[in-house]
Amino acid sequence: MPDLVHLLPDHIANQIAAGEVIQRPASAVKELLENAVDAGATEINLLVNDAGKSLIQVTDNGRGMSETDARMAFERHATSKISHIDDLFRIKTMGFRGEALASIAAVAQVTIKTKRPEDESGTFIEIENSIVLKQEPVAAANGTCITMKNLFFNVPARRNFLKSNPSELRHIVEEFIRVAMAFPNIFFSLSSGGQQVFHLEKGSLKQRIVQILGNHYNARLVSVQEQTDYLNISGFVGKPETAKKTRGDQYFFVNNRFIKSAYLNHAVMNAFAELIPKDSFPLYVLFIDLDPAQIDINVHPTKQEIKFDDEKIAYAFVQSAVKHALAQFSITPTLDFDLDPQVQQLDSVTQPFTVEKQSQAAASSLYQTFTQKGQAHFIESKSELKHWKEYYEPKPANTSQQLTHNEAVLPAQVLTAQQIEKASILQVQLAYIVIQNDAGYLLLHQQNAHERVLYEKFAAAISGTAIATQRSLFPATIELGAADAVLLSELLPDLHCLGYELEPFGKNSFVIQGTPAGLEAGNDKLTIEKMLEQYKHFSNDLKFSKREKLLRSLSLQQSIKAGTALTVKEMQALLTDLFSCQLPNSTPNGKPTYMQFKKDELDKLFGR
Ligand code: ADP
Ligand code: MG
Repeated sequence: MPDLVHLLPDHIANQIAAGEVIQRPASAVKELLENAVDAGATEINLLVNDAGKSLIQVTDNGRGMSETDARMAFERHATSKISHIDDLFRIKTMGFRGEALASIAAVAQVTIKTKRPEDESGTFIEIENSIVLKQEPVAAANGTCITMKNLFFNVPARRNFLKSNPSELRHIVEEFIRVAMAFPNIFFSLSSGGQQVFHLEKGSLKQRIVQILGNHYNARLVSVQEQTDYLNISGFVGKPETAKKTRGDQYFFVNNRFIKSAYLNHAVMNAFAELIPKDSFPLYVLFIDLDPAQIDINVHPTKQEIKFDDEKIAYAFVQSAVKHALAQFSITPTLDFDLDPQVQQLDSVTQPFTVEKQSQAAASSLYQTFTQKGQAHFIESKSELKHWKEYYEPKPANTSQQLTHNEAVLPAQVLTAQQIEKASILQVQLAYIVIQNDAGYLLLHQQNAHERVLYEKFAAAISGTAIATQRSLFPATIELGAADAVLLSELLPDLHCLGYELEPFGKNSFVIQGTPAGLEAGNDKLTIEKMLEQYKHFSNDLKFSKREKLLRSLSLQQSIKAGTALTVKEMQALLTDLFSCQLPNSTPNGKPTYMQFKKDELDKLFGR
């Protein structure tokens, strides 16, 4: 028997390693942007075509590389950022694993043009399949420009695994925002297919948040700022009134690195607890800075999860800092956004407190607790940590088939159109409908019933005959944030089947040319915006397709709400529609639409 064990050739080893770091175009975007930040750039331009599948290019004006370094940078485990294992606990850069460029060169066709300010000429390198095809001196601007073409051209299985362009672009926008948010003092731009998506001038964090997340946050941000021996926290939370139905605008950065932390998220939610409705999500952009030795960022190849040495302290600290900030917000001066950025960055403007207030605060017990090392975890220790998971783990959603068992809910108790027409119908509390049937009476929840009707109608329209469109006489324009615009583009074809005719109109704007015939015109804009919110709300549910989420969002959105008076004719129509549904018993999300009350049961109740 021959021996079987052999070493993998470099290019295969690299391709395998690449799988950990580069899963999709957005992962390459993240790595390249982070490298540019690490290189000290003050201007970073990102360009993508075909959602990054055919082209990703990052140009920076950072420190550039020497000819040898440029060549070395593509080797696996090649990094300038650490030399000793101890360095792992002192990391101040975004990268350190020395894997990104090697991985990218293993799965795409890459060119790099780079020049250090101190050098006369720059270096050009072309590399693919981890093999250098060309290396030559070149005239170049200071800094680095890396171009990456045809991602996964040599790994078809991975390429096929990529999602649609709008969906990959959404991931890119997400990564772009995470980096751009953390470095407001760097200029960033993003163009996709020749269209500019973001153009972010340097400025304060507050300006960056508003540039990225939208003007409605202007004057609605509360500054958070606390310092202790163990860690510092700074950033902004949205005033309670800006809390949304979706958890989109929430960002944690630890030492400027975006991280996902359900645990810290819970700390913020706790601080907001009494101030916002349940099921709504406040904006936050919070930066936690602490000694890198206190955390481990090397727990995951994409470095999005970190371990704190003492999680409880971080939790208590975040919660108290946010509470503290919220308690102050009514007296926080609202900044005039048109102020010169330099003025805005002055401490006197960005700090929530005046000098007197600061010394007052410093004397407060809260502050004192913060500044005693290791004491912060005594604050609010009564908070019920054991429930923190509930805040982020999606509750098991009922599907339409799995009705919560309820004695009063019957299997498809159908009322015929004639029965409906004959019976007397009553609306109760502007929310319920009562109708008599042979066995007793039915009590319907008007919104739930309508939601079911709309859901089946929309589902039919998408898979069969589209709903007719009625042209708008005065087409309204909706302006969206870049991420929402990408999302809406993704939904346009399905929306069209549902009777909505939306046309892209320049940067992040759409014109509503038509709405479903029969739908009352007027607040089309609001409908679309709310639908997007609702859609994002469902987006946590991975098990639903894009289309399913759209159907659920729209039917929820357009259903008649409680408080709407209905005429007898309208109630008859609703009942007829409901009992022509395939699954009339529940809403798509599993809430009952009606209950049956039987005469003999009623009799029993009254002792008869
Ligand atoms: P890491 O960032 O973990 O060090 P990378 O593979 O991303 O690993 O990069 C390897 C090295 O190449 C970096 O350590 C850095 O020295 C150099 N490098 C990468 N991108 C740039 C850039 N845009 N400008 C200057 N140097 C860069
Ligand atoms: Mg890197």
